Amino acid sequence: MSNSAAAERPTVTWQQLLADAVSDPADLLQRLGLPAALLPAARRAAALFPLRVPLPYLARMWPNDPDDPLLRQVLPLDAECNRHTGYSTDPLAESAVQPVPGLLKKYHGRALLIATGACAVHCRYCFRRHFPYADAHTGGSRLGPALAAIAADPSIGEVILSGGDPLTLSDRRLAELARHLADIDHVHTLRIHSRLPVVLPQRVDGELLAWLRRLPLRTVLVLHSNHPAELDDAVRAALAALAAAGVTLLNQAVLLRGVNDDADTLAALSTALHAAGALPYYLHLLDRVQGAAHFDVPQSRGEALIAGLRGRLPGYLVPRLVRETPGADSKTVIT
Ligand SMILES: *Cc1c(COP(=O)(O)O)cnc(C)c1O
Ligand code: SF4
Repeated sequence: MSNSAAAERPTVTWQQLLADAVSDPADLLQRLGLPAALLPAARRAAALFPLRVPLPYLARMWPNDPDDPLLRQVLPLDAECNRHTGYSTDPLAESAVQPVPGLLKKYHGRALLIATGACAVHCRYCFRRHFPYADAHTGGSRLGPALAAIAADPSIGEVILSGGDPLTLSDRRLAELARHLADIDHVHTLRIHSRLPVVLPQRVDGELLAWLRRLPLRTVLVLHSNHPAELDDAVRAALAALAAAGVTLLNQAVLLRGVNDDADTLAALSTALHAAGALPYYLHLLDRVQGAAHFDVPQSRGEALIAGLRGRLPGYLVPRLVRETPGADSKTVIT
């Protein structure tokens, strides 16, 4: 046993895999055997929002298929360069709800910390693709004021680490952040919103798990998987280890045209998540961010898909269809 465990120990660290992510559109096309004709458009769109794909995620894509649902989430396209009315660069008006830089307080009881601007993957539909991360995360000297604002508001019982992707931070940084939060009496729950366990499951290593097991806070991890083909053996092992460390696992997905806008795919995603120990939480209608209009699925189609899921899955595997409405006191659940 111990011999085979040693043989399976990863020789490449998650930090190295993060650093080795594909960022050159030519490299992406070449690795997947895709036509070079896609390159000029990919370069134009990547100039607006850089390409970024970790190799373990790329390995789950089918070669020679420009319509692969995982590829579509990361491939820069000319459509991103078109401007659409009704689409903005800050669709959720987040610039307006920051009591201090990097802290978003929109809903009762919960505060969201933009713990970092960095992500392991760049999702082309991301509503934060225009977000001024450099100015608005709680790195370095900004952490003090954000923690002071949380400490001063006894209504905040849950702190959500978001970004960017908070699991791109080192274990040391995460532990320091959590230690400060655990010192605040009224904070009882730490929630982490991360795409890393899905796109780079190597992030869930022994050190991260040891930290999570010791954490004196209830811990919720909201994954972000949009398609069942994202859940391979490595992801399932990472999720099983997280669950064993006492973490509640939920998933949020975004309803994306050409990726998961059909009932079979969404049903398979729910079933695969459940088999891996996570429950579906939210299915988001796309936020209207410039550059993502080609992913939009009409609300009526979203409603029909959810009705279809209700007819074939147990209630706990049907995600809540939601839209974010600036100024509302919660996400808007569409029924
Ligand atoms: C989505 C979000 C939350 C969490 O909302 P839940 O409905 O509890 O998942 C909290 N704060 C902000 C700013 C959010 O965008
Ligand atoms: S914030 Fe989330 S959705 Fe946006 S690019 Fe990063 S990982 Fe993708």
